[in-house]
Amino acid sequence: MDETIATVGEFELIRRFFAPLGGAVAAGMPVLTGIGDDAAVLAVPRTQHLLTTVDTLVEGVHFASTCDPFRVGCKALRVNLSDLAAMGATPHWYLLSLALPSATPVAWVEAFARGLQTTAEAFALTLIGGDTVGTPGGIVITVTVLGLVGQGRAILRSGAQVGDVLFVSGTVGDAALGLAWSRGQLAGVAPEDASFLRDRLDLPEPRLALGKMLQDAALAHAAIDLSDGLIADLGHLGVASGIEARIDLERVPLSDAARRVIDGREGEMLPGLLAGGEDYELAFAAPAGARPAIMEIARRLALPITEIGTCAASKPGVVVSRGGAPMVIDRGGWSHF
Ligand SMILES: [Mg+2]
Repeated sequence: MDETIATVGEFELIRRFFAPLGGAVAAGMPVLTGIGDDAAVLAVPRTQHLLTTVDTLVEGVHFASTCDPFRVGCKALRVNLSDLAAMGATPHWYLLSLALPSATPVAWVEAFARGLQTTAEAFALTLIGGDTVGTPGGIVITVTVLGLVGQGRAILRSGAQVGDVLFVSGTVGDAALGLAWSRGQLAGVAPEDASFLRDRLDLPEPRLALGKMLQDAALAHAAIDLSDGLIADLGHLGVASGIEARIDLERVPLSDAARRVIDGREGEMLPGLLAGGEDYELAFAAPAGARPAIMEIARRLALPITEIGTCAASKPGVVVSRGGAPMVIDRGGWSHF
């Protein structure tokens, strides 16, 4: 039988798998005191603002019990990084809270910690603290990421202006299709498309470089990352900014894999893609004059950035149209309750 965490104990688990994650110190951003004291002590440069964000992943809600724990570790960090990307910030540190049932195999924790570490190394992050507890329920993972941005430079949701153009990075709806496929709800998907869509769900790419470039050049008035779905998230941006986000369904960028999957049933499936969450792309509002600079960023990052609509003076929120005709999409994105 697999070794479980009950036989190993909390302190050994931390010593083996989590303490080593506090080893690397983010370049130029010293951790004065890291893991091992009652609290971490961070040196925050005088010219910067500190940003924090937290996300919780619950077994059976955000990831299935059968999910690869390495990928769960990657995703737990990546979804938080996406939030800092939307603010134009640079992440440096993270905190981890982990609730584990006593029957959790040690091998699960080992693979999960490797997922965290691989991601932390890729994005130059240091673990600065955490908590591990037992639970009678499923696994619960909470990650908090901290980052920095120049004072007054964070890109908020609330800054979009009437007349701004709306852009989105990458492609929309892949994660929703990846989820549908993994639940056995999509038949006849080519194996390479299934694996692409599943990767988009499991290993979202936080658009940190894009967020930072938009922030550095002060190009975006407002931004949000797509966690709840394009429609819901643009609705959040529209309400926060007091503008109506008008998007054209025909312009929403889809991946080749998504196009193949929905081929012949676009009418039935497109609305679901716009409402589906977890793409972790960035949607942002910018003045029309910023178009050339934004297209130059797209070229430099080799990342598609697509104009999908405009910001109008009307009822704050979001409106979707198709070829000029307004559409009603009742699936306004992912809501937990
Ligand atoms: Mg977000």
